[in-house]
Amino acid sequence: MPPIYFDNNATTQPAPEAVDAMLPFLREQWGNPSSMHAFGGGTAKAVDRARGQVAALLNADPSEILFTSCGTESNNAAFFGAAEIHGAAMRIITTRVEHPAVLGPARRLRERGHSVAELGVDGRGRLDAAALRQALAGGGPAFVSTMWANNETGTLFPVHEIAEIAKASGAIVHTDAVQAVGKERIDVAKTPVDMLSLSGHKIHAPKGVGALYVRRGTRLKAWMLGGHQENGRRGGTENVPHIIALGVAAELAVKHLEDGRVRVASLRDRLERGILQTCPGSRVNGDVENRLPNTTNISFEFIEGEAILYHLSDAGICASSGSACASGSLEPSHVIRAMGVPFTSAHGSIRFSLGRYNTDADVDAVLAALPPIVQKLRAMSPFVK
Ligand code: PLP
Repeated sequence: MPPIYFDNNATTQPAPEAVDAMLPFLREQWGNPSSMHAFGGGTAKAVDRARGQVAALLNADPSEILFTSCGTESNNAAFFGAAEIHGAAMRIITTRVEHPAVLGPARRLRERGHSVAELGVDGRGRLDAAALRQALAGGGPAFVSTMWANNETGTLFPVHEIAEIAKASGAIVHTDAVQAVGKERIDVAKTPVDMLSLSGHKIHAPKGVGALYVRRGTRLKAWMLGGHQENGRRGGTENVPHIIALGVAAELAVKHLEDGRVRVASLRDRLERGILQTCPGSRVNGDVENRLPNTTNISFEFIEGEAILYHLSDAGICASSGSACASGSLEPSHVIRAMGVPFTSAHGSIRFSLGRYNTDADVDAVLAALPPIVQKLRAMSPFVK
């Protein structure tokens, strides 16, 4: 039996349509889009078409889409590109629950003299807009970066409100929307962010391609220096086949958005309900009223998440845990810690992230396999008397 894949926030299966579309650009149309001859011209046109497809997903203008190698690069390009404009005096405001691809650049810029405020969240992972207002009150150029949706819990940040508050004080606003794109409706004409990161492999394109939306008029220095590709904003010959695949994946994402919000959400809800009913001592982490339709993060009291994952994997089920294995000790993730999840539950958190190709049978399989695993591990737990 093929494995049951409930780890779509880690990566998604490339859509066959996206793979089919990229293959001719590996086999026959392998020209450099910057070349003047026919080989180049064809690929340049294809890249332009993909730019239009990605722009349509966000309701952006194609000229506002900058292709990158991944979501991580998009975030780095936004942070370092903005910092170069502002010298060493930028006030960076972000949150404690960002992905390392945001926290990393922010902390590196702190070492270079910029100030960084990492805002906290409440027990459900929600950001307090008042804290943002307070952080912005200091004066001087600010760069606000908050994620659209949390990769571990699916909790949504009020990006629209955040952007309006930040823009009102003259800040540059970036959002890491890597997990939200394709799952939430995103319209940059209505949400006043200056920059937005997305990643191909989270929306059924292959790994190795991403994009940064840069609103027209936003000042940004190229982070990757080289040729004049991408309008001089990112040097390096374009990864044409992957860009083509990303374009097709973006078009599919538009087509499947409703399916994700309705069918995938109802699979997720049935999975979650079933687990809570059959596994005593389980609880959902994150903001259940305001989260991605595909994600549930569940803690199992007195059990290590890794042990559950190991047994699930034995049963052919792929999920992920909120723990990071650091120097031999299993520490709960920074997201779970920032929410203040009680110690007894924090170590046993599992993320199930569903996707386009999941079925009812997949949910049934988890609901059959998981309760005996939890029961067995809890019986072995030294914390349970
Ligand atoms: N930002 C978020 C919220 C993510 O979940 C991820 C990947 O998990 C990234 C950024 C990094 O994206 P990529 O793997 O394309 O570098």
